[in-house]
Amino acid sequence: MGAAAAAAAAAGGRCPCCGKGRCQADPCGVLCLLLTYLSVGYADYVVLEHVLLQPGFRASLWCPFHAVAFNFIVVMLLASHTRAVFADPGTVPLPETAIDFSDLRSSSSSTSHKSRNNEDWTVCNRCETYRPPRAHHCRVCHRCVRRMDHHCPWINNCVGELNQKYFIQFLFYTGLASLYAMGLVLTTWLWPGDSAEGSDSGHPLQTAHRIILLVESVLFGLFVTVIFYDQLVSIITDETPIEQLRNRLRKEPHREVPHTRKPKIALLREVFGRGFMICWFFPCNCSSPSASGPSYSYLPNYDV
Ligand SMILES: [Zn+2]
Ligand SMILES: [Zn+2]
Repeated sequence: MGAAAAAAAAAGGRCPCCGKGRCQADPCGVLCLLLTYLSVGYADYVVLEHVLLQPGFRASLWCPFHAVAFNFIVVMLLASHTRAVFADPGTVPLPETAIDFSDLRSSSSSTSHKSRNNEDWTVCNRCETYRPPRAHHCRVCHRCVRRMDHHCPWINNCVGELNQKYFIQFLFYTGLASLYAMGLVLTTWLWPGDSAEGSDSGHPLQTAHRIILLVESVLFGLFVTVIFYDQLVSIITDETPIEQLRNRLRKEPHREVPHTRKPKIALLREVFGRGFMICWFFPCNCSSPSASGPSYSYLPNYDV
């Protein structure tokens, strides 16, 4: 067994500092987490202090309405982000005892046990786990993750079978907050008489804050929209970016046998849960795939 795998197995597959096995010390991930919190905090500050709490807006009933609505979106954004960061993405448990995979290694060129199709269990030659179909190894997390989509530095975690719902919710609420902030800033500029009467809206500092918020909202809004679209396409085609790349490299542009014959709504329910569709918008466990049973469960026995 490899040294990294042995160390993780010795700790029961859990991180010694957080005890959950999902605390990543990746500097890029930590930086992106801080940047996320700073960006959200700054946007909320500018919306409240430099848009809504200005004399013109403050006297209107729209002020409390927008304040509550915008902060509700921010709370949902942070809640879904927190769940995406700390939720188990679907990490494949490490074997309790060392397994000799030398015979498998010798029979393969690059990986220990290449799957001929997506239905085979394989052995990871990095963390040495016997993993279910569609699980892939993350080089940042050093673990295999079930139906791994990608490793996202913005949540400092993998996006996998069990936390993809929270990740998509995070994208959704970030896009919504960006759109909302853009709308509020543009409203104060296009209709200054309604929202900025008697205010110091022409103050350079206030203008600078609003411009920065507008730029931030446009950049983040476009960014998350692209990723959100890719995530939905990935779900309804039942093919993760890793699988798309692998099939392209194998020169299998169009498989004769489709990967799935499931209807799109069934594929969406596998990610967002089988409960009421309203639950798809809340970062809760009530209708998560794990609550209704993952597509394949942890296997305590490694029958290799
Ligand atoms: Zn692995
Ligand atoms: Zn990862």
